Amino acid sequence: MNDGIAKQNLLDLDRDGLERFFVETLDEKRFRAHQVMKWIYHRHVTDFELMTDIGKTLRGKLQQHAQVLPPNVVFEKPSTDGTHKWLLGMDGGNAIETVLIPDKGRGTLCVSSQVGCGLNCQFCSTATQGFNRNLSTAEIIGQVWVAAKHLGNVPHFQRKLTNVVMMGMGEPLLNFDNVVRAMNIMRDDLGFGLANKRVTLSTAGLVPQIDRLSEESDVSLAVSLHAPTDELRTELVPLNKKYPIAVLMAACVRYAQRKPRTSITFEYTMMKGVNDQPEHARGLAALMRKLDAKVQRTNTAKVNLIPFNPFPGTRFERSDETDIRAFQTLLLEAGVLTMVRRTRGDDIDAACGQLKGQVLDRTRRQADFRRKLEAQGVSDAA
Ligand code: SAH
Repeated sequence: MNDGIAKQNLLDLDRDGLERFFVETLDEKRFRAHQVMKWIYHRHVTDFELMTDIGKTLRGKLQQHAQVLPPNVVFEKPSTDGTHKWLLGMDGGNAIETVLIPDKGRGTLCVSSQVGCGLNCQFCSTATQGFNRNLSTAEIIGQVWVAAKHLGNVPHFQRKLTNVVMMGMGEPLLNFDNVVRAMNIMRDDLGFGLANKRVTLSTAGLVPQIDRLSEESDVSLAVSLHAPTDELRTELVPLNKKYPIAVLMAACVRYAQRKPRTSITFEYTMMKGVNDQPEHARGLAALMRKLDAKVQRTNTAKVNLIPFNPFPGTRFERSDETDIRAFQTLLLEAGVLTMVRRTRGDDIDAACGQLKGQVLDRTRRQADFRRKLEAQGVSDAA
């Protein structure tokens, strides 16, 4: 027994934290922490008894003081296009979703940072579920661990996890410390060994935290913009009231200045008749060009157009293909690097903005949303 002290879940610690735990709590050498990380992240071993290059005494100490506790897979669902979705049980009925998107030799994992989300972006299905809590570091890195272990068992060419995007449920910058720690493990050679530019954090635009991120981490940044004017953006992303476009773009300029080699991706969800007209494309192009000019570097700003993914009860529709192409062409002609994201996994509700999980809401949003749906005669709200 360990005198009733809770065992440390080693998935909650990045390399620094784990070294400290080995030195201070276990009275062991730091390199032992490295051996254990390799077992956990390279070989997916959670049982200390199976860690054969670690002596019996240390294995005993680990049993007493520590555990490796990945999230519990409630169910998993493969999509016809190769996308794979996991529902991971958290605690007391909460669950979150993680999605793996294989594509031409790449495997991108879309990772959640919170149970639900508090930001209430009008076109996002997670928002309708309200918010419960932040995920722990173990619950965030555990999503990568579960997917990597799954891929280890898949006997064909898709055995690769090459990219992680923090674009699942939640606002990652509102769970700053746990997200940064988990992203440290993703990029650590003793962890998942991903290159900095292959780990992307997507934010709805929390300005102070964008500044803090530029000081504390080297991951890629994606900013959810969705509109070129404050009037429209405030309607779609209420956070815009607090950090309007000019303030957000100034933070992006500071970020790009501090990271001389990286670009910033601006996500723009295309909603029919809402934000997909030529005037919006021209406004967006102007914002992007202004950023490049201020940073004095071409192609610092990149645009990622995301066709809107519908969910029950939403008032929005996906833009027409022709409008999306015209929008892209206008941006390209203005010299802005612009991609259209291919929609993946929508047959299993695994596309952007469709992740729901199971949120025990602490706000009143779920109840309000259900009432709204009932008023519209939509019945599959739960
Ligand atoms: N909170 C973070 C990350 C989560 S969402 C953020 O706001 O960036 C990841 C991306 O999917 C964001 O750009 C988000 O705006 C977009 N998105 C949300 N709902 C969507 C929907 N229904 N269809 C398409 N994209 C959506």
